[in-house]
Amino acid sequence: MAVDGELLANTGYDIAFEVAMSRITPGDGDALVVVDLQNDFVTGSLAVPDAPAVVDPLNRAMAAFAARGLPVFATRDWHPPDHCSFRDRGGPWPVHCVAGTPGAAFVPGLRLPPDAVHIHKATDRDTEAYSALAGTALGDELRARKVRRIFVGGLATDYCVVNTVRDAIRLGFAVVVLGDACRAVNVQADDGAKAEAEMRRLGTAFASVDEVAGAGPAGPTTGQEWR
Ligand SMILES: [Zn+2]
Repeated sequence: MAVDGELLANTGYDIAFEVAMSRITPGDGDALVVVDLQNDFVTGSLAVPDAPAVVDPLNRAMAAFAARGLPVFATRDWHPPDHCSFRDRGGPWPVHCVAGTPGAAFVPGLRLPPDAVHIHKATDRDTEAYSALAGTALGDELRARKVRRIFVGGLATDYCVVNTVRDAIRLGFAVVVLGDACRAVNVQADDGAKAEAEMRRLGTAFASVDEVAGAGPAGPTTGQEWR
């Protein structure tokens, strides 16, 4: 795995890993990134299997971050009508998430904090961009808020989540993936599993929303089982 080794050697992996593992309860320096909870990915033209199941966990995660005064970012695929990822232009996907259309809107029931920062991605007609950190303001916005670690959940594990996580690690952020708040497209049956394995190799921690946000009277888990 020379490629991975090379990547890790160049990316602040040790620091990222250390911070990701040091504590699981969100606090100073943490932010939540909710990836692409849009109609087309939940119930529309490119619906991800079981996607509605992530809405409630993400609502609980957003509430936990907002209650602590921590930043919440919400990304959206925001394509021009003739985006290069669409089949008409030789891309792999049906038309989806065209900017300003109902398909690109946040899914009903998603309770974004009023001050959530909205990030639009893949807005250039000739550039595919799965990562929320590709050609967007997200990196600058995170640094401006002195964020060192991001918690990530949303759609889809094997495309926009894994690409966002890969870029975040490369940029020196620690990452915690909210496993129960992500779902995969699985064009190939094991795409989601492969993406998860890659994120773990890169030093990403995985946790459930209950572990991060607290699951009621018992409060947040503070043990090591979330690793
Ligand atoms: Zn797209």
